[in-house]
Amino acid sequence: MKLTFCGAARQVTGSSFLFETGTTRFLVDCGLFQGSRTTRAQNYAAFSFDPRRLDFVILTHAHLDHSGLLPRLCASGFSGAIYTTPATRDLLGVLLPDSAYLQQVEAERAARHGRDFTAVYSLDDVRAALKLVRPVPYDVPFEPAPRMRVQLRDAGHILGSAIAEISIQEAHRTRRIVVSGDLGQPGRPILRDPTPVTEADVLLLESTYGNRDHKPLDRTLDELVAALKRALETRRGVVLVPAFAVGRTQEFLYYLNQLTRAGRLGDLNVFLDSPMATEVMRITARHFELFDEEARHLARQHARERSAVRLSFTESVRESMALNRLQSGAIIVAGSGMCDGGRIRHHLKHHLPNPHTTVIIIGYQAAGTLGRRLVDRATTVRIMGEDVPVRAEIVTLGGFSAHADQSALVSWARNFSRPPANVYLVHGEPESAEALGERLAKDLGWRTHVPAHGERVEI
Ligand SMILES: [Zn+2]
Repeated sequence: MKLTFCGAARQVTGSSFLFETGTTRFLVDCGLFQGSRTTRAQNYAAFSFDPRRLDFVILTHAHLDHSGLLPRLCASGFSGAIYTTPATRDLLGVLLPDSAYLQQVEAERAARHGRDFTAVYSLDDVRAALKLVRPVPYDVPFEPAPRMRVQLRDAGHILGSAIAEISIQEAHRTRRIVVSGDLGQPGRPILRDPTPVTEADVLLLESTYGNRDHKPLDRTLDELVAALKRALETRRGVVLVPAFAVGRTQEFLYYLNQLTRAGRLGDLNVFLDSPMATEVMRITARHFELFDEEARHLARQHARERSAVRLSFTESVRESMALNRLQSGAIIVAGSGMCDGGRIRHHLKHHLPNPHTTVIIIGYQAAGTLGRRLVDRATTVRIMGEDVPVRAEIVTLGGFSAHADQSALVSWARNFSRPPANVYLVHGEPESAEALGERLAKDLGWRTHVPAHGERVEI
């Protein structure tokens, strides 16, 4: 059997792994490349295989760096099934059309300024891709091809996220392949912890935070309280929070509720300026069955009591623009998470030059994104063709990640009853993947490999 690393090899985006047995060809994930211009250029490159000859796709979760090239795959002739969880299907229905829409807007803007930009796919391609989605609940085995059995396990990363366990019956043995997808940090609110897996011959393990541990959550919450007090009481400006529509936004609001309830923060005025995040909140509420105990409890409590967090949803662009008039006392949560698109760019352009403003960064910022430049303390940034001075305070809170940190990855790996024969560390920048490899060797005696982009191996 052959395995090709078509993306997320020595980088965190573009997840896509091609498996070829004698009779079947399938992909796990088909993600968008995000970040620098060179990275994004890979979205236009020809697939290294013929999409028409691909039998099916297994999708671990809805984040665009795992799902965002599916429409292009379909536009290139793929017509098989896309297997994923029901919650992921619901999220795709929001995320993929939004991705196509943002590209269309970008293309129109580029045309006006005489720049060159072609959308990777259209809304029609998205509709075609969504028609191919076949939802399969967690833990229910299915057979996408003869002699092949797949089970999706809760990965605890975002709503609907899955670890793929694949068994393939060969002539005289069964091969077990496990693709971790993105794993969540255990003990986080709303979602359950990643499911332990005990058997694999071949393991593809994510390594986003393979070289470090998150700060303890308590300390991060202390920092959040301090940052919000400084921002709202001392600096008396506006607080901007670039947020990923899926997962992080809900988690952030959850903490604000918890902190006000505990009396650690006074009443808060929060504007959720992201129609997509609003829609995702509706989807999340519909999937109550996936919540952990604590979240169920909080949701019930929430239904009974008045909340000190006044949450307003802005839908139209006009309402979003009106937020520019706010000078103080407001927390504006808007996408995109890495500031490379979406409404947050307008808010940043407007508020970054103001020394009263605070920007709170709560998620991973890939190399080459505007968010990363802010984290790296750039004094000027370029937004929509303009140089904008950065006078705002930038606060980076590292503890909110939706990804397992090094220790959590190692403890998840500890569940395997024996070391998998082949372990590939993917979805991490080289230093993260390599550091995780060293830790797994030291603690568990595992031999691991960090594949290169496009590498093809026999498994
Ligand atoms: Zn993810």
